[in-house]
Amino acid sequence: LGARPGTYSSEAGYKNFLRLVAHEDFHLWNVKRIRPVALGPFDYDHENYTHMLWVSEGQTEYMANQIAQRAGFYTAQQYYDQLAKVLEGVENQPGNKLQPVAMSSFDAWIRAYRPDENSKNSEISYYDKGEMVGMVLDLMIVQATNGQKHIDDVFRLLYDKYYKGLKRGFTDQEYQDAVAEVAGRRFDDFFQNYVYQARTLDYNTALGYVGLALTSNPATPNGSLGATIANRNGHYLVTSVKRDGTAWNGGLNMNDEVLQLNGAAPTDDAVKQALFGTAPGTALKMQVKHGALTHDLSLALQPDPDRAYQIQPVASPTPDQQRLLAKWLGK
Ligand SMILES: [Zn+2]
Repeated sequence: LGARPGTYSSEAGYKNFLRLVAHEDFHLWNVKRIRPVALGPFDYDHENYTHMLWVSEGQTEYMANQIAQRAGFYTAQQYYDQLAKVLEGVENQPGNKLQPVAMSSFDAWIRAYRPDENSKNSEISYYDKGEMVGMVLDLMIVQATNGQKHIDDVFRLLYDKYYKGLKRGFTDQEYQDAVAEVAGRRFDDFFQNYVYQARTLDYNTALGYVGLALTSNPATPNGSLGATIANRNGHYLVTSVKRDGTAWNGGLNMNDEVLQLNGAAPTDDAVKQALFGTAPGTALKMQVKHGALTHDLSLALQPDPDRAYQIQPVASPTPDQQRLLAKWLGK
């Protein structure tokens, strides 16, 4: 593990590094010993395909945040803020609505490490989404066992049964069985909907078990083009287009060159203003070169679709919620 000279110069940088240490340390258990069948003994000559990287990486990241919180590096609210930040990244990415996290894991060899300009529209990270699935699953286990068990107990069971006992990894089904054994209840629908399909996690129900609530508001009051435009030697090129945004719906495409913006040659300032600085509904006229064709677009900026998320305690949590919260936080 390496830290750059500036890593410790901000508190956030220092804590991010601590979290990285916790992540890699937790891999000594989750992956090195507790692992899906595909991940060992490794076939070093071929790709090793698994649906379970949302457990191997996503839940390792989930536990890294938990460990940093349990060790006292984060206050409870700082921990909630950390989770809300990851949640925000997941829920604002269009690919989250299309790609199940199990598929994101399976495609790691061909997609995750070979991102392209359309990745955000069609894919989701098994780290970030896996962390969110881990959070909701942990809360469901705490609730189902009335505060007797949490996700640590799933890792312990997998360690004892598969690593020490059977001396092999676990299958997708065996992972679900382990969760059921710990929780005393099967969560088959949960895995089907949120791991093998791309439905939106029911965060508020899960957070409600421990007296927390998720709220959100528009990330900015501005309109949004939903595209990025880069100045390449004086040529203004579209470098990404967000699914369902103004540009996507209005016919602006990747690699189009912007020749005119509101009747004038584009400048850095004009592009910045057009992309981020105006109210929803603002008209934007563009002349663009698409391959050999030049055409005019008349767009009206849609509201910024991104939302900002907060996780906070409810006003008056019940004694049960407080008890389950303490278990979830590892107190
Ligand atoms: Zn990792």
